[in-house]
Amino acid sequence: MKNCFIILAAGKSERFNSSIPKPYIKYKGKPIILHSIDKAVKSKLFDKIILVVNKNHKKYLNNNITKNIKVINGGLSRSESSYKAIQYIKKSKIKNVFIHDAARPNFSIKLINKILVNLKKNDCVVPALKSIDSVKIKKNKKLYNLNRKSIFLTQTPQAFKLQTLLSLKKNISETITDDSSLFILSNKKIKLINGEKDNYKITTSKDIKENLSIYYGLGFDIHRLKKGRKLFLGGVNIPFHSGLDGHSDGDVILHSIIDGLLGACRLKDIGHYFSDKKKKFKNIKSSLMLNQIIKKINSKGFHINNIDINLIAENPKVNKIRFQILKNISKLCNISLDKINLKGKTTEKLGLIGKEKAIACEVIVSVKCYD
Ligand code: ZN
Repeated sequence: MKNCFIILAAGKSERFNSSIPKPYIKYKGKPIILHSIDKAVKSKLFDKIILVVNKNHKKYLNNNITKNIKVINGGLSRSESSYKAIQYIKKSKIKNVFIHDAARPNFSIKLINKILVNLKKNDCVVPALKSIDSVKIKKNKKLYNLNRKSIFLTQTPQAFKLQTLLSLKKNISETITDDSSLFILSNKKIKLINGEKDNYKITTSKDIKENLSIYYGLGFDIHRLKKGRKLFLGGVNIPFHSGLDGHSDGDVILHSIIDGLLGACRLKDIGHYFSDKKKKFKNIKSSLMLNQIIKKINSKGFHINNIDINLIAENPKVNKIRFQILKNISKLCNISLDKINLKGKTTEKLGLIGKEKAIACEVIVSVKCYD
């Protein structure tokens, strides 16, 4: 056989709005990267599978991903990463090399078989689609029509005879967006075969919308007001005659948000993580607690979508403190201001809250998860 499948996943995923790097986001039940690996393994066509990763993303690799493959560190650009992988195999007995972008998880095993058959008589085989859109090109500020019949949108995996690719890589230092560009720059023949419509590149989070789930969580909290304590609401110190009593700073808004988040992600409740029996949490700032919980839910693939808050207090009046609080929550939760709302509610002077002896809060949050 002597075939090698190289998967490039070393990019920084800058166009992808997520705290988890794109290759490791779950898509159709598993990390994007694993789709390519599994298909390469299942095809039984490859003696070696190499995954090129960004060294800062190594914490996302686990045994599930790495069991059948060799992992190497990529470079600063796509061309540098593929160069490193090629260098790694240049002294091996590999004859044919496939280079594939991890961001295209939907290719079929049939496609790699077809590519390999075509590689027998060619040095470079590339799957491509004809453009269905009309294409214009701008030159010197003027637009020109291009004949769309002669436009090809190239995909990966692209396959090469290793020795030809090595010789071209040596001679060309230009930065290229894919390896077949080397063949064009050197006037060498590329065999185009029909690509697959489903083999699109996942570029932004919108591309995996179909797998996006939304979950909701409810939070509630109440604390007594006590003279001589500072009042914290939404992590902001608000001038007031009393502050909220509690093991921590008693911030009812942040506690409700934490419980809402834990609820939405099915991760128990605030007391499970910050027991009021534990000395180390005495007088802890609630913003630190929230920070810890956000890290936890992010690590499980959940991201905050929106937050709606009811603050139930006779005083202070929400109108005067709303913006400060929303701004701080937006910073703490790393979501934009237009995803958070704060409403004020009194209890018509009834009960402990009405007599300014307590403040309560209820929150509903939604979180998104790609699963
Ligand atoms: Zn509380």
